[in-house]
Amino acid sequence: MTSPRVEIDLGKIQSNARCLVRRLGARGISVTGVTKAVCGHPDVAVAMVEGGVASLADARIKNVVRMRMEGIKCPISMIRAPLLSEMEDVVRCCDTSYNTEMDTILKLGAAAKKQGNSHDVILMVEMGDMREGILPVNLNDCATQVIATPGVALRGIAANFACMSDVAPTAGDMAMLSRLADQVEGDCGPVVVLVSGGGSANLPWALGEVSTGRVNNLRLGEAILLGTNPVTGHPITGLHTDAFTLFAEVIETSRKPSLLSTKSIAPALGILKLVQSDDLRARTILAVGQQDTDTSGLKFPSGMAFIGATSDHTVVDTAKSAVPVGSEMKMGMNYNALMRAMSALDVAKVVYGKQKMNGSAKDHETHPFLTLL
Ligand SMILES: *Cc1c(COP(=O)(O)O)cnc(C)c1O
Repeated sequence: MTSPRVEIDLGKIQSNARCLVRRLGARGISVTGVTKAVCGHPDVAVAMVEGGVASLADARIKNVVRMRMEGIKCPISMIRAPLLSEMEDVVRCCDTSYNTEMDTILKLGAAAKKQGNSHDVILMVEMGDMREGILPVNLNDCATQVIATPGVALRGIAANFACMSDVAPTAGDMAMLSRLADQVEGDCGPVVVLVSGGGSANLPWALGEVSTGRVNNLRLGEAILLGTNPVTGHPITGLHTDAFTLFAEVIETSRKPSLLSTKSIAPALGILKLVQSDDLRARTILAVGQQDTDTSGLKFPSGMAFIGATSDHTVVDTAKSAVPVGSEMKMGMNYNALMRAMSALDVAKVVYGKQKMNGSAKDHETHPFLTLL
């Protein structure tokens, strides 16, 4: 089979989504499945929908268009502020977008009106991640302006954590977001239907003991796809952490000394000799590199360790065991490695467990589909 490739187990993604939908549902929180790390891969998106997510979200309009072209009909929101140059596609393909700029919202409204439509707006509030967000002091003003803007409807507020910073939200942050929802409604009436608390980093809070207040939605990418907590990197209980596997072919395998240095044996003549230590280690070179993934985010089989990588090669210390040329190594990926591999043209994507669109579990496919990007 072609390599490098990512093998995707759709059943595990569906199971992760279902588990999170059930556990968060019990706490009054709906789940939006975030597809940006898989570039809106339609089969992955369908697996999330089959797992029960209420809606999908992506950060790039190209990915949303891809999902719509593949017949995905559920609500999809843009979680990155839309570009002024893509208004038409955003209002055509997305039910909702997350926004921070009145200029953008005005143009969204105009584009929606032109299409004889209305577009839902969620205001993103800055709560310490210091990426996108309206400062809390300006939130009511902004909400009032959105309500007065033709072509758009204010649907809720949202916060984002642990994207720029590595800091997980606290119960205090979440209580504050609930208070901001009340504060907006104090000025604008009961318009804040959705209070979206954040992403996978919010799960320890959401699945904990404290009251969830008005927070009634989370946007989950990493937890559904990889089963891990983005702040700690640790697995989340009950979730699969191996829905995605990267395979790469071995193109060289050799024993080389762990230290190889050059020594001048005839300095006047400029003759150099390679001097080696006695510590021979098996080194394996894989035909995969920085162009294909974030090699520092790969997880190798036990007993093997990453040595280094260039654009097209990854060197692995395989300790005592030499891995034959032509064989394949199987690797796990963290979020960055997954994101890069899914967007790399030279990495094939092979899905298992595909179900027919709108079908039920009985339409199980047993052989892989090669999905061309
Ligand atoms: C990427 C992203 C998410 C999902 O984050 P995960 O950590 O993968 O769950 C949620 N909201 C916004 C705005 C994002 O950009």
